[in-house]
Amino acid sequence: MAEPANVESNAAADCVFCRIGARQLEAMVVYEDPEIIAFRDINPQAPAHVLISPKRHYATLYEFQQQDPALLGRLLAAALQIGQQERLAARGFRLVLNHGVEGGQTVQHVHLHLLGGRPFNWPPG
Ligand code: 5GP
Ligand code: ZN
Repeated sequence: MAEPANVESNAAADCVFCRIGARQLEAMVVYEDPEIIAFRDINPQAPAHVLISPKRHYATLYEFQQQDPALLGRLLAAALQIGQQERLAARGFRLVLNHGVEGGQTVQHVHLHLLGGRPFNWPPG
């Protein structure tokens, strides 16, 4: 089947986060700019649980770093802005980037988790 015209050329047709970024799949979007989309996790692990993702498809952090290293910084900047939007900057929040099997990455499209609204333990599980 041909790819829909409004999906970026590097999008994986069956990638759920590409589909959310292209607005083909519904999500509770809390932030968007031309390169980044952030939306609430479907299975939240805290009162606030937002996923911040590049719209372009990068399966891993290494692929992302190789192809658009500057966007890594802008992804973090977006997360900080969302922390303020969610009124979590003063009380604190956690940012998580799961990479690979042992890192617990289950969606093969790079995304940063912002978790807040409750205390978190260290070390993580
Ligand atoms: P990972 O384990 O890869 O770091 O995180 C993937 C996250 O994506 C999980 O927390 C999971 O709940 C979330 N997720 C998976 N599919 C969807 C979806 O279709 N919509 C939304 N909003 N979140 C999703
Ligand atoms: Zn993707």
